[in-house]
Amino acid sequence: MANNPIKPDIDLDADGKHIGYLRLPYSVHRSAYGWIPIPVASIKRGEGPVVIVSAGSHGDEYEGQIIVSHLIRELDPEMVSGQLILLPMTNAPAAEAGMRTSPLDEGNLNRLYPGDPSGTPTQIIAHYIEHELLARADYMIDLHSGGTSLIYDGANMMGLEPRDAEEEKHVTDLLKAFGLPRAFLYQPNPVNVTAAARRQNAICFLTELGGGGVVSTALIREGMQGLLNLLGFIKLLSGALVPSGPPAQARLMRIDRIKHYVYAMDNGVHEPLVELGATVTKGQAAALIHFPDNPGRAPQTVYFDADGEVICKRAIAMVKRGDCIFQMADERRSTL
Ligand SMILES: [Zn+2]
Repeated sequence: MANNPIKPDIDLDADGKHIGYLRLPYSVHRSAYGWIPIPVASIKRGEGPVVIVSAGSHGDEYEGQIIVSHLIRELDPEMVSGQLILLPMTNAPAAEAGMRTSPLDEGNLNRLYPGDPSGTPTQIIAHYIEHELLARADYMIDLHSGGTSLIYDGANMMGLEPRDAEEEKHVTDLLKAFGLPRAFLYQPNPVNVTAAARRQNAICFLTELGGGGVVSTALIREGMQGLLNLLGFIKLLSGALVPSGPPAQARLMRIDRIKHYVYAMDNGVHEPLVELGATVTKGQAAALIHFPDNPGRAPQTVYFDADGEVICKRAIAMVKRGDCIFQMADERRSTL
């Protein structure tokens, strides 16, 4: 396979704090020999864990982009044992456009792993993250929100179901150290960054912080605090920024890839019938789809397909058949 064409203009092996760009060659009409700048920082000192903290994998999810920018400005090498690799706008063209997907190739970065070094810009970024960055990392925290079309209930974490009891203990300890109220575990999907990390023997968590295309001060604070907690827990970060006290108790929940999603089955305007955080039962009405263009037609009811708790809802009233209206989770019971 071809080498990845992205070249960092900082030395990722050097101690110290370095801020620059990953240069993705991109030859277009207005810039024949140009490159796409993907902001990157490395804060490194001595031996210790290597952690990637990224945001803007989806360009319309903003809390993480702000949090990573804070980290770049506020952390210094003296506070670090190991290395932080910080990416505030991971899919930079998407983040610049404020869109989930890249306007250059419609690429959804978190659906394109393991990527392709000879492919489109988003495929090249995915390949670089998996094969150049995750290959050197122990952990990755990819900061997400609901984006333009979805809103999550507060601050949450997501990660893969562990494969054995030892990994379960490790993952549970990390999630508790991060300290957000809820963590959702799911089965791996090979095109996601969490699976890319697993292929490279690293552990990756996502956050899901609010959404709806807006920014919440409280969620920035919670996400930032969680990261500082985690970086302290794995002994990458030390000093005054690391909170003291026992880890919080994250509630571990499970998302079923089929049963926990509610979809619109027609085109119209949806009226949600429950709020975020609601406890619902299988067969309960979830939303009405109205048809103002055909007012004699009765609204269509869509239903929850399982018992559980509503963790995420659609932020846009208009729906087309196939749009996700609600996502749910239920209590996780370990089978390991
Ligand atoms: Zn996202």
